Amino acid sequence: MKMSKMYMPTLKEDPSEAEISSHRLLLRAGMIRRLVSGVYSYLPLGYRVVRKVEQIVREEMDRSGSQELLMSAIQPKELWEASGRWDNFGPEMWKLKDRNSREFCLGPTHEEYFTNLIKDEIKSYKQLPLNLYQIQTKYRDEKRPRFGLMRGREFIMKDAYSFDTDHENMVKAYENMWDAYDRIFTRLKLKYKVVQGDTGAMGGKVSHEFMAMSEAGEGLVAYCDHCDYAATDEKAKVIYEISEQSTEELSKEKVYTPNLKTIDELVDFFKIDKSNFAKAVVYDVNGKGIVVIIPGDRELNETKLCNYLGIADHEIQMADEELILNITKANKGFTGPIGLAEDARLIVDSRITKMKNLVVGGNETDYHIKNVNYGRDFEGEVVEDLLLVREGDICPKCGEKMEMARGIEVGNIFQLGTKYSESLKAKFLDEDGKEQPFVMGSYGIGITRTVAAIIEQYHDENGIIWPLNTAPYHVIVTVINTKNEDQMNLAEKLYEELISTGLEVLLDDRNERAGVKFNDRDLIGIPIRITVGKKAPEEIVEYSLRTSPEDRKEVGSSSIVKLIDEEFKKAGLNY
Ligand SMILES: [Zn+2]
Repeated sequence: MKMSKMYMPTLKEDPSEAEISSHRLLLRAGMIRRLVSGVYSYLPLGYRVVRKVEQIVREEMDRSGSQELLMSAIQPKELWEASGRWDNFGPEMWKLKDRNSREFCLGPTHEEYFTNLIKDEIKSYKQLPLNLYQIQTKYRDEKRPRFGLMRGREFIMKDAYSFDTDHENMVKAYENMWDAYDRIFTRLKLKYKVVQGDTGAMGGKVSHEFMAMSEAGEGLVAYCDHCDYAATDEKAKVIYEISEQSTEELSKEKVYTPNLKTIDELVDFFKIDKSNFAKAVVYDVNGKGIVVIIPGDRELNETKLCNYLGIADHEIQMADEELILNITKANKGFTGPIGLAEDARLIVDSRITKMKNLVVGGNETDYHIKNVNYGRDFEGEVVEDLLLVREGDICPKCGEKMEMARGIEVGNIFQLGTKYSESLKAKFLDEDGKEQPFVMGSYGIGITRTVAAIIEQYHDENGIIWPLNTAPYHVIVTVINTKNEDQMNLAEKLYEELISTGLEVLLDDRNERAGVKFNDRDLIGIPIRITVGKKAPEEIVEYSLRTSPEDRKEVGSSSIVKLIDEEFKKAGLNY
């Protein structure tokens, strides 16, 4: 492609809307443009990368035995009502009506649709296992679309669904997909971890997330360097040592604490450690007050709370002052476990039951109570673990200390079981001629998010550094002075020669200053660079790589193909 003809609107300045590197660089390199919040267009250079990522995903999915098809983004309400997700999926679901007022959604995922597709066609165990996938546009009306392709409201996803006769075979399908994902993310050159995830809106019990490790990631991962345990912060089991507790239960005492509402203010006032406080977090679940008591030095994990309550995360919100006043008779900041209104639900993290002589809110404005003990002074629904993991917590698998890191969720795999087949009445006849629901799994890869993840891991202050197999073009030939006939002739000759070998080549023949061209070349991140300048009459050009731009060497133009071949060989690739 000749860049003088190319639609590649690069930006000289950093766009103000961009907060993370991939977003900034995709915009600056003229690869994407925003239409409205969370909705992007993929421009020619960017779309080439999207297609390359898709192709790697496609090849490995095909290799795993999954078959590609393409479904509609539009799905009728009835399918989602059958699974119970029309209401449960929450406000992220993009709903619409046709001219006859029939309701539809723009698919945020396709479990119902795939289950419905096969249910009348697959009748016998002999037709199983089956694994189908598509690469298609998905819609989620995110509350906070941000970070460019990282969290969009419209995005390209690969989603696959497996159908098996029983749990054991489903687990095999799951492991087969896991292997395929390992191959995909390895080929994409991503540094990633496979971590236990929460199943959330998908249902089922077991799931794993493939996290591309990056400081820009929205996901937090707790992992252990001593064994292979790794889990998202939503999922990670929290184990920690509670500080030494006295055995004696002291007598309860009301203390006047005017305007002291935060744990830090209370720590100053009582002159005791944070861990001796019991923190109350108050939620509103469908108008009902729920008070959760956790150790004062820890944070509550809302996902664990929602799982315990059996509700979706959009059904829970922090209680407002009015609800707090209703259930505690006190202002916000003085909530505790003793003397709550009858209709308030009291939930207690199990650690609280092991702690002695706690300071709690007094359920009376400006008062706290000290020396409060579980069992003696209050009781509630005790839940094993409602806490958010943090660095230094104990690994549930080996007992060593865990670390925390940020990651981008680029893939996820779910063992769904029979949730969708039962609700949509999708059954087959087993060997004994008995009707059985399909046992299912579902498997996603965020294609456009993966593009962003690659950039997060491969960039420097000057721009993107594409790995060879996802770069929009392999080679860029830059002409220093396009008015110079020798330079243009040699560049065109090289360009034609490289294209004829099957390489993907850009020719920067724009009538721009060399500095502008070099900056754009760095910005768009083409891996192999050839500069045609003053020594063109001697057929000598400069050769360098985006990964090490300072290592420039002058070479005869006839040896270029050989150098490029070596680069591909090093990367284990063909062209
Ligand atoms: Zn461990």
